[in-house]
Amino acid sequence: MSDIVSTRLAVLGGGPGGYAAAFLAADLGMEVTLVDPAADPGGVCLYRGCIPSKALLHVARLLSEAREAPHWGVTFGEPRVDLDRVRAWKDEVVKKLTGGVGQLSKRRKVQHIHGYGRFQDPHTLRVETTDGERTIRFEHAIVATGSRPVTLPGIPASERVMDSTAALELPDVPGRLLVVGGGYIGLELGSVYAALGSRVTVVEMTAGLLPGVDADLVRPLAKRVAAAFEAVHLKTRVTGMTETATGMDVVLQHADGRADRLSFDRVLVSVGRRPNSEDLGLDRAGVPVDEHGFVPVDPARRTAVPSIYAIGDVVGQPMLAHKAAHEGRVAAQAVAGGNVAFEPRAIPAVVFTDPEIAWCGLTETEAKATGRKVEIARFPWGASGRAATLGRSDGVTKILVDPETRRVLGVGISGPGAGELIAEGVLAVEMGATVDDLELTIHPHPTLSETLMEAAESFFGTATHIYRPKRS
Ligand code: FAD
Repeated sequence: MSDIVSTRLAVLGGGPGGYAAAFLAADLGMEVTLVDPAADPGGVCLYRGCIPSKALLHVARLLSEAREAPHWGVTFGEPRVDLDRVRAWKDEVVKKLTGGVGQLSKRRKVQHIHGYGRFQDPHTLRVETTDGERTIRFEHAIVATGSRPVTLPGIPASERVMDSTAALELPDVPGRLLVVGGGYIGLELGSVYAALGSRVTVVEMTAGLLPGVDADLVRPLAKRVAAAFEAVHLKTRVTGMTETATGMDVVLQHADGRADRLSFDRVLVSVGRRPNSEDLGLDRAGVPVDEHGFVPVDPARRTAVPSIYAIGDVVGQPMLAHKAAHEGRVAAQAVAGGNVAFEPRAIPAVVFTDPEIAWCGLTETEAKATGRKVEIARFPWGASGRAATLGRSDGVTKILVDPETRRVLGVGISGPGAGELIAEGVLAVEMGATVDDLELTIHPHPTLSETLMEAAESFFGTATHIYRPKRS
């Protein structure tokens, strides 16, 4: 094996951004070298993010539905959870998907160098592998090194303190779990542990769960979480944490001046993620980073250095797998000489809690903040036949409409399956659809997708299943 590899395109990082870029570049006829430490591509998303969390959330959903089933006349009794089997099943899902991506990589003849790479200059990477160092000379490179969890100062290093990666390992089902941070990762993983039997407390610094998300979408979730979790403390900070012989003693400082000292068996810290940009030798290549560590890029995802592109979590928000993958495909096409830009009108976001929350395009929060005039058409799931058959009438679907052009600017959905339903909203925004288009499109009955059509009907004051005439 030669110590020096020459390649047309080097992709640094094999997450959903990196492997999507590498695969498209190979499909376009390029010779591609992918650098990532793992056995197969997959990155955070497949190994310790999207996929394992959703596998566990599937189990959580099953448990909570079984607990609600007596209401529908079916009783299962208390579930017995075999944690080893749950963990093994989650690992099998991860292995199946990463193995599949590995096969796709081989079939495309992408050369995978297993190691950690650092730039030496604008056309050279040095890779540390288990067998020593290798040098890659490239025409172009794509930085796709992703992100990692933010740590909090003052939190002791202890096995009892977990980040999302450790929590996904399911070390046990702690009696009492503290989740620090009420964002999507904390709530998703908190829901898993609550369903498995932990008494979960969430602390969130701001005034609401899922900061930044429209309040009407969060409300149904906040209500269910209040029942499923032991406590939710908003406007509260963790100001002290010490390990004792039996657990973690934690001081919670509330905004009104009160403080609580509570004990937990484990703590999950989920307060955000930061880009992996420090230890890449970007300075040697001449690639700048901003004050948050993100790599600035142009619409084609090119950095300040023409031979180097960057995509995914390392270039900024939203830190989501599908955004990384799309950027990866844009960068690969740009390297191939295409005149391309990453200019989505809508990037969907989904919180996979129960209920799920999903949105795309303009949100009500953004419209208010920027003073943008919008009309909002809402359809409460209380009027949906399908929601009634599922015993879940607490959802809402809303469409943000431009009052002048009637264009759909954004969609928000809260309810089971919102993550699947939002795709229609994304298509509507991307295609420049008007609210009339959604109203006139025949949706299958009885489905939750009808809530989009009826929300559109409600814009005109004519929704079949709600009586809300339009005020002139
Ligand atoms: P990553 O997936 O972070 O991959 C980067 C890769 O680069 C890693 O394999 C890393 O080891 C490697 N690397 C880093 N530095 C180097 C180097 N110097 N040399 C070689 N390799 C290097 N997103 C969603 O869209 N939906 C979800 O449901 C979702 N759920 C999530 C749940 C959790 C618990 C977490 C933590 C994240 C979740 N995300 C979700 C976010 C999603 O995982 C990320 O947005 C996505 O993985 C980013 O992709 P990426 O390609 O930018 O980088």
